[in-house]
Amino acid sequence: MQGPGKRKIRRFAIMGGTFDPIHYGHLVAAEAALDSFSLEQVLFVPSGNPPHKKEYPVTEARHRYLMTILAVATNPHFEVSTVEMDRPGYSYAIDTVAEFHKIYGPDTEIYFITGADAILEILTWKNVERLMELCQFIAATRPGTNLDVLHGFLDKLPENLRRRIHLMEVPALAISSTDIRKRVAQGRTIKYLLPESVEQYIAKNNLYRP
Ligand code: ATP
Ligand code: MG
Repeated sequence: MQGPGKRKIRRFAIMGGTFDPIHYGHLVAAEAALDSFSLEQVLFVPSGNPPHKKEYPVTEARHRYLMTILAVATNPHFEVSTVEMDRPGYSYAIDTVAEFHKIYGPDTEIYFITGADAILEILTWKNVERLMELCQFIAATRPGTNLDVLHGFLDKLPENLRRRIHLMEVPALAISSTDIRKRVAQGRTIKYLLPESVEQYIAKNNLYRP
C-alpha cells in the first residue's frame, strides 16, 4: 500500500476528499497545515466511494487519483495514497486512520485536515469517538461557513472531542469542486482555480462535460 513512505514519520496529516477535481482550496489548506502544525508530510487520500456523495455520480477513481498526483507533483511534502480507492465499499475516515495507526504505531501523531464545512458534519462520521482518539482534526476556515456558527458548534462538543479539533485560519478561497464541475459543463473558464496541469487533464479526458 502507498503511504507516507517507509522512513519513520512522526507527524503527518491526512487530507481526505473526493477531489473531483482537486483545486487550490485543498492545496492552500494542506500547505497551511504543514506550516502551522510542523508536519513532515500531507498525504492526500482520494476517497473510493464516498458515503456522503450519493447525490451525483462521482468521477472514476482513476481520474481523481491522477488529477491529485498532478496537483501535488511539485511539492516535496505532499504525497497521494490509494488506500481508500483500493478498499471495497464506502470510504470511511476511521478505516483509513486506523490503518495508518497500525502501520506507524502510537508514537506517530496523525492529523486529519478538513474544511470548516466538513467539521460541522463530524458527528455523523462513522465511529467518531474512536476516530478522534486516533487522530486530531485541523479544521480550515472556508468561505460559506460562518465562524460564529463554527465556534458555537465546537463549544457544544464534549470535551474529549473538542480538544482534538484545531481551528486553522487560511487565506480564503471561495473555490469548490462543485463550482468547477458546473463551469466546465457550461463551457466557462476554470483558469486559476486549480493547477494548470489538472485543467489540461480535465480537457484532455473530457471530464465534467454534459
Ligand atoms: P464538492 O463541491 O464536490 O463537495 P469540495 O470543493 O468541497 O468538493 P471535497 O473533495 O469535498 O472538495 O473536499 C475535501 C476537503 O477539503 C473537505 O474537508 C473540504 O471541506 C475541504 N475544502 C474544499 N475546498 C476548500 C476550500 N476552498 N477551503 C478550505 N477547505 C476546503
Ligand atoms: Mg465538499
